[in-house]
Amino acid sequence: MVHQSVLYLDDTYLTEITTSVIAAGRDDAGGAWVAVRDNLFHPQGGGQPADRGWAGEWEVVPVRHAATGLVVLAGGEAGPSEGDVVHTRVDAGLRLLHAALHTAGHLVEAASRAEGWTLAGSNHFPGQARIELTPSETGTRPADAEDREKAADRLRAFVAAAVADDLPVIAEHDAEGRRIVRLGDLHAAPCGGTHVRSLADLAQVTITAVKLKRGRVRVSYTASHRPPR
Ligand SMILES: [Zn+2]
Repeated sequence: MVHQSVLYLDDTYLTEITTSVIAAGRDDAGGAWVAVRDNLFHPQGGGQPADRGWAGEWEVVPVRHAATGLVVLAGGEAGPSEGDVVHTRVDAGLRLLHAALHTAGHLVEAASRAEGWTLAGSNHFPGQARIELTPSETGTRPADAEDREKAADRLRAFVAAAVADDLPVIAEHDAEGRRIVRLGDLHAAPCGGTHVRSLADLAQVTITAVKLKRGRVRVSYTASHRPPR
C-alpha cells in the first residue's frame, strides 16, 4: 500500500509543492488519473467543494479513489506517469474562498446552537452556502417572519462578536484519533475540511436569510477571505 501525505489538513495556505507520482490509472470512462505522494488537494466532501488546480501543465480535479482511499487527480486525457516528478499547484483564490465559506459554516453553526438548534446538514459551495438545523423542543422556533428576522439579528451579532474577537481556528486529534476543529472555546466539531487561521481572516460574513422549511431551519450566508496576510 502506497503512502500519501495529506497536506491540506496541516496547512490551508500551502498551495504548491513539487512531488512524485506514486500511482496512475484510468477510470471506467477512460479518463486518466494520478496519485501524488504529497497531496495538496481537498476532494469534495463534508459539504465542501473540491479544489481545482494543476499537475505540471495538466489541469486536474481531485477525487477520492474508492478502491484505495487515496485522493487522485483526474484530468481527462493522458497525464504524467508513475515515478514522474511533478510540480502541483491548487487554485489559491478558490482554496481561500472555500476555506472561508467552510469556516464561516462552523461559526454560523455555533451561533445556531445558541438558539437551541442542532446541525442537520451543510453546503459550503460558493453562491449557495447554508446550514440546515433542527429546532429543539426547548430552543427558539422561528415560526413567523418577525421571529425569523429577530433570530437572524441574534445570529449576526454572535458572528460579528466572534470575528471581532479574532478567535483562533485549531485542528487537533482527540483520543479516538478523530480530527476536531475548534473556534477558540466557542465551538468544536469533528471535521476533515480546510479552515482559515483565525476568524479575523474572514471578511463579509453575512447572514442573508433564516427560513423554516419542512420543520428545519435554514440559515443562508456568504463569506470571503481577507487578502492573505
Ligand atoms: Zn471544518
